[in-house]
Amino acid sequence: MKDSYMILLFLCLFSGVGLIQPVFAGEDKQDQKVISNSSEISKLLSRLDLNVPGLEKVKSSINDPLQAAGELLKYYRARDVVKHPVDRRSKPDMLGKCASEKDIKVADDALKHIFTGQTAYPPYFCGDDINWGTSPVPDNEWVWQLNRMDFWESMGLAYWHTNDEKYAREWCFQLVDWTKKNPLDGEHNYAWRSIEAGIRGYSWTGLFQRFLDAPSFTPDVLIAFLNSCHDHAAYLMTKYSKGSNWGLMEAEGLAFIAMTFPEFQDSKEWKDEAVKRLNKEIQNQVYSDGHQRELSMDYHMGCIGWFIHTFDLAKMNGQKDAFPESYLKIIEKMCEVPMKLGFPDGTTPQFGDSWTGTPGQIWSNLMSWAQLFNREDFRYIATEGKKGKKPEATAFALEKSGFYSMRSGWDKNDICLVLKCGPDGGFHCQPDNGTFELYAGGRHLMPDAGSYIYSGDPENRAWFRQTKVHQTLTLNGANTAYAPKLLLWKPGKDMDVLVVENTSYLNLTHRRAMFFVDKKFFVIVDEAFGDGTGVVDLHFQLAPGKAVFDNEKFSVRTDFPDGWNVLVRSMNQKDMKLVEEEGQVSFVYTKKEPRPAFCYRVRKETKETGVRFVTVVAPYNESQPKMTIRIIGKPIIGASHLELEIVNDGITKRIRYDLSGQTE
Ligand code: CA
Repeated sequence: MKDSYMILLFLCLFSGVGLIQPVFAGEDKQDQKVISNSSEISKLLSRLDLNVPGLEKVKSSINDPLQAAGELLKYYRARDVVKHPVDRRSKPDMLGKCASEKDIKVADDALKHIFTGQTAYPPYFCGDDINWGTSPVPDNEWVWQLNRMDFWESMGLAYWHTNDEKYAREWCFQLVDWTKKNPLDGEHNYAWRSIEAGIRGYSWTGLFQRFLDAPSFTPDVLIAFLNSCHDHAAYLMTKYSKGSNWGLMEAEGLAFIAMTFPEFQDSKEWKDEAVKRLNKEIQNQVYSDGHQRELSMDYHMGCIGWFIHTFDLAKMNGQKDAFPESYLKIIEKMCEVPMKLGFPDGTTPQFGDSWTGTPGQIWSNLMSWAQLFNREDFRYIATEGKKGKKPEATAFALEKSGFYSMRSGWDKNDICLVLKCGPDGGFHCQPDNGTFELYAGGRHLMPDAGSYIYSGDPENRAWFRQTKVHQTLTLNGANTAYAPKLLLWKPGKDMDVLVVENTSYLNLTHRRAMFFVDKKFFVIVDEAFGDGTGVVDLHFQLAPGKAVFDNEKFSVRTDFPDGWNVLVRSMNQKDMKLVEEEGQVSFVYTKKEPRPAFCYRVRKETKETGVRFVTVVAPYNESQPKMTIRIIGKPIIGASHLELEIVNDGITKRIRYDLSGQTE
């Protein structure tokens, strides 16, 4: 029933234009349609360069718009000079091979106008007569992302997978429906955020490839499609969000329209502008250590894609000279970041607006980059050590962006800690300098809290952005500033040493030294000095689950019955308290769960006194570690030299750092 209804609706909208004989449309309606359609065709023809080779018949039919539209469709179906990552010639080979079960489900839902906007929320019926402004949840991301039409990708894949015309027919209907209902007139802003326009510009060129050869792709669809592409490109020329991932999506959409449709009179100007922006932004947005400036791994990964896609498209169309060699070099550096900062199970830290993700999520990317850059270390990670060559180092410093990783090895069960102490990365970055994530034995023992939500729930978004819900130090619970400094980075065979500092408040500096002792456990020395006074808290948070607090020993540990756990213990000092705190963690957008959190609390009574914590963070597989640590001598807080004695399993050992040889 539904299908036949859809066909009827489709025919009602598309058949009355003279190209297919109208069956049910009344005469008046048909005339109206022909007129409006003619003007759309004329508009499109005025936007094309009809002197492009192959468009001769279109040009000679210019006084007969319907004829011209038919000729234009023939031109595009025959055109083979423009290459695109979605290769129309491969369609027959994709039969039964290109859609997942999920794609088919999403595509089948889309046939019924059941769409997903922001993917954390359930799909929603947007009306037989689709309302593209549907907003079923308070979170604006839903309607914004509805207008990315990700489900169209699934429809495209389902079409090639099944060769069932119903997907093409419905896509053609929805495409025209969307263009009619969402003119760029200032009254449909939900559909025209610049990033959605950019995302559409990119994805629509691929959808064009998927559906162009479908019988349902009539000249009318072509006219609506190309006119909207022109509107998109003209709009994107006026939108340039410098310095953020937005600017890349805007440029990418512009580039893909320009390069897929060089027949537009303005295409060259669009392409030049897009390429200029990408070349400029890769210089502006990527630190010399390879990390994108917003300091969120998910956006970093996205940015790699946004930089590569246009390069690839240019390359396959013989235009890679548009990008200097340095462009690809910078991308390669960016691709090293997930290898350097990723956890051994193929997940990544969720600092800022990022998500730990699922095991192995970075491997397919690393595999394709291994091929692109001929990198055996990428291949090693991507194949879990089965192929390629193990990375030479186990510890990495990204000094400009302020990320540091230390690991015991590259096996899934190895220990890995990633610390963040970097500059302000903007909206997607949180004031969390000094914080870290700890992974060991396949378990995220101390994950970052994540970000939970972007829009529609400001209170909870703010909760996750607080400094005090991170594993770092606060004064009177206030959020800290971004004022990082690297004081020492000394990776070694048996021990890695890192000392960073953050001028967390105008009146208080936080120095954190981290020792990865024997590549087995971490000793952290936190010092706070400056004029500020009040409550100094050193915060920690554990994986969701039970935690065991020992108030006498000032220790807290996870309590997983099997596998790895972590013990956190700060050495006792006068008037220190162990305080339980509110803990939450979010691994999925809009979803959060409670988790153990606590702090060690000391009062800083006067300007002159400093505060120091010596803490051990020890992941362990079997019995609880029992090491004790003391500071040798009486170094002043903030001193350039510090030495500690560790007694562990009856063995005494000394560790130290010395900043005196370091240049500022
Ligand atoms: Ca965080």
